[in-house]
Amino acid sequence: MEHSVQESLQTVHDFLAGRIVTGDRLPFSNELLQRAEASGVILKKQGVIKKDGKWHCQRCHCPDASAYVTFNCAKCNQRCAYCRHCIQMGRVASCDELLLWGGDDLYEAKLHTFHWQGQLTDAQSRVTNELVESVKQKKARLIHAVCGAGKTEILFESMAVALNEGWRVCVATPRTDVVLELFPRFQRVFPDTDIHALYGGADVKPSFSPLIVTTTHQLYRFEESFDIVFVDEADAFPYSYDRSLQLAVQKAVKKDGAIMYVTATPTSAQRIKATRNDAYSFIPRRFHGF
Ligand SMILES: [Zn+2]
Ligand SMILES: [Zn+2]
Repeated sequence: MEHSVQESLQTVHDFLAGRIVTGDRLPFSNELLQRAEASGVILKKQGVIKKDGKWHCQRCHCPDASAYVTFNCAKCNQRCAYCRHCIQMGRVASCDELLLWGGDDLYEAKLHTFHWQGQLTDAQSRVTNELVESVKQKKARLIHAVCGAGKTEILFESMAVALNEGWRVCVATPRTDVVLELFPRFQRVFPDTDIHALYGGADVKPSFSPLIVTTTHQLYRFEESFDIVFVDEADAFPYSYDRSLQLAVQKAVKKDGAIMYVTATPTSAQRIKATRNDAYSFIPRRFHGF
């Protein structure tokens, strides 16, 4: 089937917009990629570069020199380096290319059906309102939700607000099982929205998704993509929110976007900083006695 140039660009945009990926696993044909390249809408970055005398991975931005391995590269016959830190996403070396969308934003915002009739407790309502305000202003917020507080439903309204602004929204968690649990809940709440669930081994869908629920690791494949990222720390013990995952989240959010952290165990430094910025919400355990 012949596609018009515009259709081809739309197809490439829908997958590539907001992502930074290697060219080997694209959900469209090479021919479409070449067409997009000829139209000048594909940006390319080297996988690993030398920056201030140090190796730097352009996918995960890992700052640790020990993450980089140099080797005699059979592909380019030179001394290349690859990044060990994000190698589970497929190896990326200095002579490999990462692809990004460099064309116009072709996402046509639409209204999203928001379908939820559950009941919030007073504490959940208060935090929901605080979160909605922060999302509207694209201002970071720390949600301290103790275990059993019912933290997922406090996200719904602010997600709806962001989606209906035409924004791209991400819910990120370190754990695949949490992605698998959240995905059907979000599908019920936003029944007309094309939601993608991303985790290691998940099918790659070619469409543009305004709402992505993903493991934090998969965010290495995104760059300046989301207006709002909700980070659900998932109360995983002994999980600690390591610096490299923080970097993954930070690079996935747009420059004018904001990150909302949901955690059961904020550090005191996080709490003090958020309180100072008037961006701290606390939600206690729900009362289950009725
Ligand atoms: Zn890397
Ligand atoms: Zn090479």
